[in-house]
Amino acid sequence: MVTRFAPSPTGELHLGHAYAAKAAHDLAKEKGGLFLLRHEDIDSSRVREEYYGLIETDLKWLELNWDGTPLRQTDRLDAYADALKKLGDLGLTYPCFCTRKDIQQELRRMHAAPHSHEAQVYPGTCRALNPEQAAQRIADGEPHAWRLDSSKAARLHGTLHFNDLEHGETKVDETVNGDVVLARKDIDVAYHLAVVVDDDFQGVTHVTRGEDLFSATHVQRQLQAVLAYREPVYLHHELVKDENGRRLAKRDHARSIRSLREKGLSPQEVIAMTGYVS
Ligand code: GLU
Repeated sequence: MVTRFAPSPTGELHLGHAYAAKAAHDLAKEKGGLFLLRHEDIDSSRVREEYYGLIETDLKWLELNWDGTPLRQTDRLDAYADALKKLGDLGLTYPCFCTRKDIQQELRRMHAAPHSHEAQVYPGTCRALNPEQAAQRIADGEPHAWRLDSSKAARLHGTLHFNDLEHGETKVDETVNGDVVLARKDIDVAYHLAVVVDDDFQGVTHVTRGEDLFSATHVQRQLQAVLAYREPVYLHHELVKDENGRRLAKRDHARSIRSLREKGLSPQEVIAMTGYVS
C-alpha cells in the first residue's frame, strides 16, 4: 500500500491538512505500507519558498514521517509534457484561447444559471475551432491553454468506475468536470494532469484526500484510463470545519499547525482537535 499527502506550499498547514496527512499516514502504516509527501508547487505565483520547510517541520512534529524524498511537482515538468503529448497523440486535447471573460460571456449567452454546476463547466467554445486555424493562432504566438476533450475521452475508454473505501463505487461521468484545462496558459500543466501523472509515477495505490475533491475524481479516473495508468483506490474523507461549520482556509492563521505548536499544544492534542478517529 502506498499513500500520499500532497499539500501546496502556498501557506501554513492547518488542522484540515493535519487530518488529511494523518489519514494517509495511518492507512499506509496499518498495512506496513509507504506514506509519501508531494509538494504540489506548480502555481509559482502562489508558492513561497519558506512553506516547503514549514510543511516538513509540521509533519515531523506531528509524528507523520514520510518515506523517501519528498517530490516537487516543479521537478516533473517533462513528465507532464510527455503525458500531454500522449493525450494529444490520442486526439484528446485541443488548444483553448478563451479568457475567463470569454467563458463567462459564453455561459451567459447559453443562459446557464449563474453558480449552477453547469455554469462552472467550460462551454466547449474552442473545441469547435478549425484545427488549421488553431495551429496558425498558436504559430502567431497567441496565448492558449490545452483542454481535454472529455466526451471523446469517454468514447475511447467506455464505462468506468472509481472505488472509494467510504462511498463505494461511483460511475465516472465525464460531464461533471467537462473539458478541464490540462495545461494552463501561464504554466504548461494544470492540477488534474499533474496529480494523475504523479500518483502513477509514485506508485500511489490509495488516494486519500478531502471530500471537496470527490468530483475531481471523475476526470482524474478518465485521465488514468486513457493514459493506461493503474487505478488507485480512493478515500475521500470529511473536511475539518470551524465552529461556524465553514471549512478551514490557509488564511485562518489561528488554526495553523505552527501557531498551535507555538502555543504549547502537543501533537496528540492537535490531532484530537481535527476530530480524527483512528
Ligand atoms: N494539492 C491538493 C490540495 O492541497 C491536493 C491534491 C490531491 O489530493 O489530489 O488540496
